[in-house]
Parts: sequence; C-alpha cells; structure tokens
Amino acid sequence: MISVEEALERILAEITSLNVTQVSLPEALGHVLAEDVISQEDIPPFANSAMDGFALLSQDSQPRDGQPPRLHITGEVAAGYVADHAVEAGTAMRIMTGAPVPPGADAVIQVELTRLEGPESEWVEILQTVEPGNNIRPAGEDMRRGQTILLRRTEIGPWEIGVLATLGWASVPVIRRPRVAILGTGDEVIDVDEPLRPGKIRNSNSYLLEAAVQRAGAEPRRLGVARDTVESLREKFAEAIQCDLIITSGGVSVGEFDLVKNIMTEQGAIDFWRINMRPGKPVAFGHLGNVPLLGLPGNPVSAAVTFELFGRPVIRKMLGDAHLVRSQVDVVVEDGVSERVMRRHYVRAHVEWRDGRFVAHTTGNQGSNIMTSLLNANALLIVPEGGTVIQPGDTAKAIMLDWPEV
Ligand code: AMP
Ligand code: MG
Repeated sequence: MISVEEALERILAEITSLNVTQVSLPEALGHVLAEDVISQEDIPPFANSAMDGFALLSQDSQPRDGQPPRLHITGEVAAGYVADHAVEAGTAMRIMTGAPVPPGADAVIQVELTRLEGPESEWVEILQTVEPGNNIRPAGEDMRRGQTILLRRTEIGPWEIGVLATLGWASVPVIRRPRVAILGTGDEVIDVDEPLRPGKIRNSNSYLLEAAVQRAGAEPRRLGVARDTVESLREKFAEAIQCDLIITSGGVSVGEFDLVKNIMTEQGAIDFWRINMRPGKPVAFGHLGNVPLLGLPGNPVSAAVTFELFGRPVIRKMLGDAHLVRSQVDVVVEDGVSERVMRRHYVRAHVEWRDGRFVAHTTGNQGSNIMTSLLNANALLIVPEGGTVIQPGDTAKAIMLDWPEV
C-alpha cells in the first residue's frame, strides 16, 4: 500500500498536457492559455481624458490678479471622435471621458471645477489651478507595446477575458479540454430513472463524477454501467479507450467480481491499486492501451474524495494548468474526530472564518457509504495515519475544496 503523496506523484508523472487548439474568445473561459500574451499596442492607444470637463493649457489655469481665468471655448470632443483643431493659449475645448486629448492641451479640468455664465456661454471660468497631465490618461499607461501581459498556463477567467478583448484576441490558443470516459460497474447498479428493485441501488457515482469532471474543466462522457462480467467490461472499455482519460468506479477491490483490475492487466498495465487512506483504499491507477485509467472505489464518498485528490489534478495537468493542488489551512476542529483510523483519514468538514480564525465542524457519520456526509462539506480535514485522535478544539490541516488550486 502506498501513501497518498506517492500515489499522486506516480500518477502525475504519467500525465502530460494535451495539444493546443484555437477557441473563440467567449469559449476561452475556464481554459488554460497555451501561449504568452504579448501586447502589440499601447493600451490605452491614445492619451485621453479621465473626466468630463475642459481640455486646456495648464499654465492658463493660473489666477490672474487674484481672479479665476476665463477661457474661450472653441469646440468639443466626444468619446470616439478626434478634435479638428488644437487648443491654443487662452482657449479651452469641452471634452468627454475617454475622448482623445486635443493637440496643444496638456491638462483637463473636470467640469465641477469650472463655471459657465450660462448654458450657451462661449466662456468658461477655471476655478482651480491644474498641473500638466491633470486628468490625462497617457497612451500605454496600462499596457505597453511588447510587454508580456499574461503567461501561458494561466487559467482564463472573466478578468483575463477582458484583457484579451482589450488586446484584440478574438481567438485564443488554449489547451484543449480532455475527454473523460466515466464508467460505472456492478450488477446491482441501475440508472436513476429506473424503479428500485430488490437488491438494486441507483447509479450515483457516474452522475457525481460527470459533474465533478465537468467542474474540473474536462468534457465528461458517461458510458453507463458495465455488468460484473469480463465481456461487459471489455465492451465498455472498447468505447472508453477513445477518450483521454478513463475513470471507473467500483470493481477494484479484492472481491470475486472486482474485474476492472483483470481487464487492466489484460489490455494494459496496473501501476498500483491500493492507497493508505480512508475513505478510498482501493484506488487503481494504470493504463488501458495508452490511455490512463483511474479506477476509483465504488462507495460514493470514496469515489468523490479520491476524485478530488487524484482525478482533479490529473485533469488540471492535462489542461496545462500550472496549479494542481488545493490550498491547505490550519483549522480549529470544534467537534474533534474521535474515531481511530490507522490509515490517513480524510474527514469531510465545513470550514468557516470566525473571530479571526478558521473553524471546522465535521459533517457527521464518516462512513464511506454515507453520501450525506458530503453535503455542506467545503473541506477535507487531514487526520494523520497511525490512529490519531483530534480532541475538540485541536488544530488540524484542512484541504479547502472551494478554493482554487495553488
Ligand atoms: P465495489 O468496489 O464494486 O465492491 O463497490 C463498493 C460499494 O459501492 C458497493 O456497496 C457498491 O454497491 C457501491 N457502488 C458501486 N458502484 C456504485 C455506483 N455507481 N453508484 C452507487 N454505489 C455504487
Ligand atoms: Mg462492484
């Protein structure tokens, strides 16, 4: 049996990022950039006004004989247009936010610091002295031509989309999303829309994993449930092998019907199949042909937790992301963990920030079949191997499931 750390290391060593594809800008959300983004232009492209007001020569704002100066208004420049003449000494031009600063002017005074004799007045009084550059956003203030703005392997969120739009990237080179085959196993497992019959349970794992795979940034392909026969598994695997990654649930333990391992040996290779953890000891990793296969346990909680710890990093690595593991924080476990478990124990918990510290509450019965222990859990407490007990009020490390990878 290997440790969680060794298992993750061995798995990730076998995973490389997928190939590059072009997607339209709106589709780039959630993808990982495949190239550095270098600005081809100065942004903003031209010096423009930060305020609605008057463009003027800053020296013209000095009071004369203790009186505010009066300047002759010679025209107007709106956002999207260019002034047709220059601002000269003793004159000013109305200007709107975002409009290019007309030649001659070296400052803008906001409208609130001016006074007009009337709405039609051709003269404006300047009520405050302004420095050169006042309210002018210089060209290139935000991004300079030739400057690297985004690094490859950055995940694209709404703010990156905004920057890419500013730079004119209508189409974006990204790593394509992995296609992930999701396969349930077991004669007892029926589909969600079937009535329960004696001895049968509904297929929760495939749906849970489909959602988790999608949230991790991949494209799930749910392939249904293989019966507990070699033939049925062979048939499903023939389809699964079209994908970039295969995730199964169930059938990897030591029972007579735990056939996933047999097929892996038959058609590929098993790297390992047991990890020193709970929930989720029977996790198999290997290949089917050239396709990596992650065989998760059948118990739904085990499948969910092992997907978080091993499946998600695999998908993030295939996506080219530089960040593969979630943040850990120290938390005060208010209710403690009294059960002694010899393996590394991942306890579902709800963590919140209270009175200047992170406080955790476990989510009740931690049996690997207790699906409701996943509800309201935003963290996994790490209880070290060797039968550690956490007393109420003790501190433990928690993996934050609702924080991004670091
Ligand atoms: P196994 O590893 O195949 O022995 O499965 C372990 C436990 O998980 C058994 O109680 C199974 O009935 C259950 N199980 C297996 N697959 C699923 C599934 N797709 N959905 C819900 N429970 C499952
Ligand atoms: Mg089974």
